[in-house]
Amino acid sequence: TTTTTASTSKPAARLPRYARVNALLASVSEIRNALKTTFNISSEEDELIPGLLRLPPKTNLHGNELVESGKLILQDRASCLPALALHPPPGAIVMDACAAPGNKTTQLAGYVGKSGKVIAFERNAQRAQTLRRMVAKASGSNKIVTVVEADFTRADTSAKGEASHATMALVDPSCSGSGGQGGHLMHRESSHEAERAEYWERVRSLAASQIAILTKALSFPNVTCVVYSTCSVHKEENEEVVAAVLNECGKDGWSLARCLPEWPTRGLQSTPHGDKCVRAGEADATHGFFVARFERDGAASTSTTPM
Ligand code: SAM
Repeated sequence: TTTTTASTSKPAARLPRYARVNALLASVSEIRNALKTTFNISSEEDELIPGLLRLPPKTNLHGNELVESGKLILQDRASCLPALALHPPPGAIVMDACAAPGNKTTQLAGYVGKSGKVIAFERNAQRAQTLRRMVAKASGSNKIVTVVEADFTRADTSAKGEASHATMALVDPSCSGSGGQGGHLMHRESSHEAERAEYWERVRSLAASQIAILTKALSFPNVTCVVYSTCSVHKEENEEVVAAVLNECGKDGWSLARCLPEWPTRGLQSTPHGDKCVRAGEADATHGFFVARFERDGAASTSTTPM
């Protein structure tokens, strides 16, 4: 039987608000000062996520000039974890397999800096347009990010391909969204059996596509580190996807590393690799998120993760 693994009754109003300082355009102290002096908003830098500011619950920064200028990016705490778990060093060439609207793409761009490159795939034309807009706003005149409007599973892995020099990848594919505010709306707890069945059928179909995208990322010849993430709380989209891909790709030298070692909330202990994975959630004052990190042949040194 299919199981649900975390509570969804988490009133968003209780959670702090978060915003990430865009390292390409501003510093943490500059933004904290501006928030305080111009808008009378107190902020604290997150103790585990450098550059992330914690703001009082219900703070509304939509339309604020710091956000409009791209210096501050409205991004939830858990949503910062995947790029942090990859943490490419300055100058790295990185793929973002499922990029729009671009929160994690721009975070990656901040890590690789002007000497690096982020190749951002997005298959949906409208969402690719949103991604281009966000990248333009967040990168200033820097040409760090290249948007590729294409299905990542069809990307060219040969030396001729655009992404053949990439050494790292982030895979944050479409998921049920069950870790966030919208997840409960999707009939998973419906009293109608047909609606529940339809919900879980969709989860199975999402998992198949998640496995295909992750497997594709692991197939690029120069990639030695891949982070997989979802905003789902279902093991079918998380630990079970990781297990299926490891089963398939372990023979090619891929293994699972302990992701964000100091992050307190871990994956499901009832699964073989649970402890290596991260499951952020209400205990971390954020929405539900899952993160796992794959490495090829002990390539840990390619990252500069600060935790
Ligand atoms: N990483 C994004 C961020 O932090 O802003 C959120 C990504 S969202 C969860 C998933 C995105 O992946 C959607 O925009 C979807 O259209 C795109 N997508 C799904 N499958 C894809 C594929 N095979 N190739 C490229 N993009 C894909």
